[in-house]
Amino acid sequence: MNLFSYARADDIDAALRLAQQNGARFIGGGTNLLDLMKQGVEAPMVLIDVNHLPLADISELPDGGVRIGALARNSDAAGHPLIRERYPLLTQAFVAGASPQLRNMATIGGNLMQRTRCYYFYDPAYDMCNKRQPGSGCAAKDGYNRIHAILGASDACVATNPSDMNVALAALDATVRVKGPRGERVIPIAEFHTLPGDTPQRDTTLAPGELIVAVDLPPSPYAAHAHYLKVRDRASYAFALVSVAAALEMKNGVVKSCRIALGGVAHKPWRAQHAEAILAGKPLSDAVLKDAAAAAVAGAKPLEHNGFKVALAQRAIMRAVREAGRNA
Ligand code: SF4
Repeated sequence: MNLFSYARADDIDAALRLAQQNGARFIGGGTNLLDLMKQGVEAPMVLIDVNHLPLADISELPDGGVRIGALARNSDAAGHPLIRERYPLLTQAFVAGASPQLRNMATIGGNLMQRTRCYYFYDPAYDMCNKRQPGSGCAAKDGYNRIHAILGASDACVATNPSDMNVALAALDATVRVKGPRGERVIPIAEFHTLPGDTPQRDTTLAPGELIVAVDLPPSPYAAHAHYLKVRDRASYAFALVSVAAALEMKNGVVKSCRIALGGVAHKPWRAQHAEAILAGKPLSDAVLKDAAAAAVAGAKPLEHNGFKVALAQRAIMRAVREAGRNA
């Protein structure tokens, strides 16, 4: 691990000032960043500890939505009554992620910033990784790519976003509130994470020096019919091969509106809007579910070892939507 200095910020302005230093990084729970530092993948020169900022509250918004402070721990958010009652999809996604110990430490802001779990990215012994070393190539593209992307990838990078929370946030149309040297701004979750394109070293649209302060959830009609399905190699403490966040608004057995987002298939949480359009206004028949699932992966470009994800994603979508439709 490289030498770095440590600074504790006691208010947001101080944190933003400290972040102006060369090589500065914010640290909350540290459940991803410290791993990356130990592996030699990340080498910040200054760590700014933001754990003492007043950003851990979870509160109701005037419009009926909910604000989750960026420093709320994943376990606290998962168990909070406002989240459990209004956004059970998000609670399910939190509980599907990591282990209890990690959920107790990991923050909402850190979860948004979680980096890919591509084997080659995590191991600097491999010279080729455009995300770690821009311009060096992509070892996964022609290497072992079982866990990699089938949608939205580029020649430069085929990695996937590993977060369960991000998939649920995409389905719930959350927004990310950030503060930086130029003030405060709000980023829709669909614009927060990026596809790799020619700049896979970037995972988000967060600007240098910006600090995530909260995630806002709009009022949701989907509390009664929501299901998060995570398919993985073992029953716990594993990243998704494919996951599905399904949220339905049902009326008289017909889908009035719906949101479907996929995890484990792309560099960002993948909203399946073609599938949503097929489901809207229809009953959940097997034929409709099959059509919707096929539409969700219509543009898939599997790699040598992950072709199974195309069929897996379709089956997972059908099962998750069916489960969501059954919920009381
Ligand atoms: Fe690196 Fe992305 Fe290729 Fe993995 S998929 S080796 S993260 S460039």
